[in-house]
Parts: sequence; structure tokens; C-alpha cells
Amino acid sequence: MILGLLQNACILIAFISIFNQIMKDKNIFEEMSIVYKILFGVCAGFLGMILMLNSVHITADTIIDFRYVSVLIAAIYGGPIPSLIAAIIIGIFRLLFLGISKTSVTALIVAIVIGSGIGVIAKQKLEKNKKIIFSMIFIFTVVSISSFVTYDDMKIIVKTLVVFFSSYMIVSFFSLKYADYVIETIRIYQKLKKEATKDYLTGLNNVREFDINFNSVSQMTMRKEEELSLLFIDIDFFKKVNDTYGHNAGDHVLRQLAQILVDTCRVYDIVSRNGGEEFSIILLDCSAVKATHIAERIRKIVENYKFKISEKESINITVSIGIASYPEVTSDMNKLTEDADSALYKAKRNGRNMVVLFDGVKFKQ
Ligand code: GH3
Ligand code: MG
Ligand code: MG
Repeated sequence: MILGLLQNACILIAFISIFNQIMKDKNIFEEMSIVYKILFGVCAGFLGMILMLNSVHITADTIIDFRYVSVLIAAIYGGPIPSLIAAIIIGIFRLLFLGISKTSVTALIVAIVIGSGIGVIAKQKLEKNKKIIFSMIFIFTVVSISSFVTYDDMKIIVKTLVVFFSSYMIVSFFSLKYADYVIETIRIYQKLKKEATKDYLTGLNNVREFDINFNSVSQMTMRKEEELSLLFIDIDFFKKVNDTYGHNAGDHVLRQLAQILVDTCRVYDIVSRNGGEEFSIILLDCSAVKATHIAERIRKIVENYKFKISEKESINITVSIGIASYPEVTSDMNKLTEDADSALYKAKRNGRNMVVLFDGVKFKQ
């Protein structure tokens, strides 16, 4: 019997581990969408079914498994909807699996009562531990009542309930602890991943992510024989902004410029902050002419935009933009960043606040 119960506990842990793998890149920390809630409920119901298939005999007529732990997990982490869906799936499966009998109909009713009851408890504004304790008390109460309704032999009832209570306490405790641990691991993993790829100030890709993206899209562009343009954008005389208005004001300008860049290009273009006051945009499947239009649009928007540096004050800044375009002008993809840099340098040398398309002629310093 103990081996059987242990097997059930292992199934639970295995499921939570699979959840870790599937969900590690998904956003699970904001309010779950209804689709996710339904999916979560179906998965918990499925887990409950597997647990039932591995149920353990306590006496000749009574079985025990941890199906309600999966409903409890659904309730605590997903709320009433997943909890009720899981309970209904478990109840119906029990009915189909064992055929219609007094026991299986009672089991269906018990599942629905438990699913909705602990769903309601999960919805209350209580701290998580209290929700778990109240849910456990609720499960134990409902199961006890149903045992008295289903069985006549007091000895069987007492034995079943003692095994049920003790094993549920232990397994629920470890499963929920493990689920907490998994969720915390996902949270840390996502935080580290974000910090490794995003620029802390603007939320754009950082230079490392720019390199990774550039390598992958340039490979794809060459394979598909498409076009690719690259913009290097640098704020003109930004040092003066810092010197005149302070570093915080400078940071604020950088954030606003980042937003303008994101808003001005297409959703699939890749915007990065490559360092300091230097930004880049990888324009996918974009010719030199189109890239020049986009760059000129950015330059004009920036020139006319009032960058807020405090509640009342705003300033104007300008940017210089260098463009390199593959394969029209730059036939060697490996030289694209170098050529965009040359074009930017040329824009700076020729007076700033301008767009320069690398024209194949190396600009002499
Ligand atoms: P140019 O037109 O030639 O590009 O002149 P510039 O002043 O913009 O260029 P320079 O390279 O001389 O100075 C860049 C300045 O950007 C220096 C530095 O103080 C500022 N800077 C770099 N990173 C940050 C940052 O994260 N926040 C703020 N506020 N300023 C930064
Ligand atoms: Mg600059
Ligand atoms: Mg610079």
C-alpha cells in the first residue's frame, strides 16, 4: 500500500516538473487568461485521471489516490475555474471508468462539491497557507461525510479515513511546496533571462541580444535571398544634455527616444540599445530606399519631438543615422555593421541631424 501511495506522489511530482518545462517561458505571473485557466483545469483533470488509474486498495472495497491534490493545485494556483473543470473531469472519468454505481455517482458529486468548494476558498482574500488549510479541512469533511454515506462498516470507514487523512496531509504538503519551488524557479529564470537580454534603462534589446539577433536574421536573409537594412542611430551632442540638465534628465531622454524608435518601425523590426546613446534597428526584408524613408521619418520625428526632462521643462534633440543595406550596396553581410558605422560617422562629419546611406565608398577619416 505504501509503495502504491508513493507511486502516486511520484506521478504528482513528475507532472509538476513537466509543468516547469512547458511554462518556463510563458507569462504565468499576471492574471491568467480564461484560455489558460481552462487549459490548466484540463491538465489538472488529466493528472487526476492518471492518479485514479494508479489508485491503491486500502481494503477490498475501498481505494485511495491523490486526485484531490491535483484539484487543490488547480484551485490554489488557478482559482475556481480550473478547480471546477478538473473536478468535473475527474468525476466523469470515475463514472465512465467504474460504471454507474452508488459509489461512482457519489464520487462524481464529491468531486464537484470539492472542486467548487475549494475554488471558492481560493478566491477569498486570504494568505495562501490559510487557503490551503481551509481547503484541506473542506476536503476531509466532504470525504468523511461521503464515506459514511457509501459504507456501512465502521472499521472500514475508520481505516480508510485515517490512511486518507495522513497520506493527503503529507503528499499535499510536499506537492504544494514543490509547486511553489517550481514557480519560484520559473520567476528567477525569467528574471535572469530578461536581464541578460534586455537593456535595463529602456527595455530594448541590449548589445548582446543585438549580436545574437543580427547573426540569426542575417543567416535567414541570405538563405531566403531577401534584403536587410541596418540603421545605426546616435544622439547628437548628447554629452551636452547630460552636462546641462543632469544625468537623470539624460536617462529620461534615452527612454523617450527608445519609445519613439519602437513606435516608428514595424513590429517585426529589431530595435536595440547598442550602448550609451547609440541605438540600432534591424529592418527585415527592407530595401535601401525603404530604409532611407524610415530613417528620415525617425530623424524628423525626433527633431520635432519635445523630450520631457522634468514636469515643466522639455528640450529638443537631434539624431544622426547611418544606413547599410544588403545586398544592394553591401554585398558582404559580414561588412554590414561596419558599413552602417561608416555611414553614421559620415553623417556626424557632415554636420549631424542627417541620414546617410552607405554608398559603397569608404569614408576616409
Ligand atoms: P556626438 O554628436 O558626436 O555623438 O556627441 P555626443 O556628445 O553625443 O557623443 P559623446 O560620445 O561625446 O558622448 C556621449 C555621451 O552619452 C557621454 C555620456 O555621458 C552619455 N551617456 C552614455 N550612456 C549614458 C546613459 O546611460 N545615461 C545618460 N544620461 N547618459 C549617457
Ligand atoms: Mg552622440
Ligand atoms: Mg556615441
